[in-house]
Parts: sequence; structure tokens; C-alpha cells
Amino acid sequence: MSPDIHLPGTIEETFVRQQAHSDNLTTFRSYPFPGRLLTVPYPLDTMDEPIPPEDLEEYSRTHHFTIPHCFHGRPARLMKDAVHASHEPLISLQCAANFGKEEKCPFYST
Ligand SMILES: [Zn+2]
Repeated sequence: MSPDIHLPGTIEETFVRQQAHSDNLTTFRSYPFPGRLLTVPYPLDTMDEPIPPEDLEEYSRTHHFTIPHCFHGRPARLMKDAVHASHEPLISLQCAANFGKEEKCPFYST
């Protein structure tokens, strides 16, 4: 049994800290309760090049790769945010809760 590291805050805040310090994509597995954050290897193409982030959803439909799940246990939404006109957009995976009807969780992965 591994030592139990107890940090202050809610379990969601603990997951956010884990996510921020992860070197790779993370996904939330809700079962067994209270769930846990798992690292997901970033997918590579046949030439061992990373799949472009904006293509991850399409890639997940045709390959053995599942889009990471947010803290709701649902597939995260791929977001493209224009940081600056001269730069490529910032691609992130965020909570896919229905805005206005549900509260978004703080899941965020780039
Ligand atoms: Zn969520």
C-alpha cells in the first residue's frame, strides 16, 4: 500500500493539482468512487509523430484512443482558443457540461 498523501482542499482540487503536474494527457475514471485521475499516453502516428491536437477527436473515432474524460466522467470537449492572430490557436480539452444548464467542472488539459 502506497503512503497516503493528504493535501488540503476538495478532492476535485486535488485532481486539478495532479493534472497540472502531469507530463501527459489525463483522464478521469469515476469508478470506483471517489474516482481517480489517470495518465493517458499522447497518441502518435505511424511515424511516431504526435497527432496534431486539433485532430484528436477525429483520431479517436478511427483509432484505439479515447478522448480524456472530465470530472463528470464524460468525454471532454476539444476547444480552440485564439491566443494571438499570429500564433496557432491554443488547443485544450475542457469540461463538456451543457453551458447554462450544468456547472462546468475545472477539468482542463492542453
Ligand atoms: Zn466536467
